[in-house]
Amino acid sequence: PQLANQIAAGEVVERPASVVKELVENSLDAGASRVDIDIDKGGSKLIRIRDNGAGIPRDELTLALARHATSKVQTLDDLEGILSFGFRGEALASISSVSRLTLTSRTADQSEAWQAHAEGSEVALKLMPAAHPVGTSIEVSDLFFNTPARRRFLKSDKTEFTHIDEWLKRIALVRSDVHFTLSHNDKIVRQFRPATTDSQYLQRLAQVAGRGFADSAVKVDCQHDGMHLGGYLQSPSLGESVDCNYFYVNGRLVRDRLVNHAVRQAFAQFASVEQPGYVLMFSLDPHQVDVNVHPAKHEVRFHQARYVHDFILQVLQSALSQIQA
Ligand code: ADP
Ligand code: MG
Repeated sequence: PQLANQIAAGEVVERPASVVKELVENSLDAGASRVDIDIDKGGSKLIRIRDNGAGIPRDELTLALARHATSKVQTLDDLEGILSFGFRGEALASISSVSRLTLTSRTADQSEAWQAHAEGSEVALKLMPAAHPVGTSIEVSDLFFNTPARRRFLKSDKTEFTHIDEWLKRIALVRSDVHFTLSHNDKIVRQFRPATTDSQYLQRLAQVAGRGFADSAVKVDCQHDGMHLGGYLQSPSLGESVDCNYFYVNGRLVRDRLVNHAVRQAFAQFASVEQPGYVLMFSLDPHQVDVNVHPAKHEVRFHQARYVHDFILQVLQSALSQIQA
């Protein structure tokens, strides 16, 4: 099983940013409203994620580190209608197979927290009591310490940290209800406060994509036949180019040709805008979309692709036409 875990780790854990992604997604799945991320040396020395989510019950702590242990999917039907991020039950096992991992967690009905430790192939079965508020902390130290070839493949601390930061920006834009902090070598680098109003959201957008985009952004918000499209487009008159192309389907960042096409078509009348900036959140019945096309989960397939495309195009065109009038 150790080899299987390390092989799976090759798919799930490419670099520190992929560890952060898996762990923070677990925090969000657990309902956390606050997630603190501490990084040392680009994540190669330490990745620590602390959340205030539901926690892991004491008797499930070691199980959580085992392969294919997921609390999120019970049946094949669950798998089709999946809304949570994780569902393979591989992340923790894979990460712990290539690092030294300490998992500390407390649920609301436990009076104390418990801690499990795993180091490469060894999961300590003995749990230790620990001090911790309700929620979960995971510390991943010395990533790839036992897979030197992969460790050598890591880029500079700065580059690895940038990957983490880029990933956090993406999630921060779609989970604006969550308070995120990110620090590197004990210095706070990002502080995203919860945003519930439009103006708070635009502040978050400014942090991620710049003031220019945020100050002139065109709001999108339309619902039809079980679909909803919300978010912001750059203003066609914005004089600068915006490096911000985020499209989320049911909370998941996706690269989709169909969507790219719809956005470009909506902007076709504005010759000055070459690559329009946007942050768009699209939601629909999860049974109308396959998210499992690729293990990295960046691709989706809509069952009614044409219908979805035309809906998106119409909503964007109407948002843009309103600002011309
Ligand atoms: P998956 O997310 O695919 O279920 P993981 O290996 O990422 O698999 O996690 C295994 C299990 O550990 C999860 O199903 C969940 O029950 C538990 N878990 C992991 N991280 C957390 C967390 N931060 N808060 C609560 N439970 C967690
Ligand atoms: Mg997971």
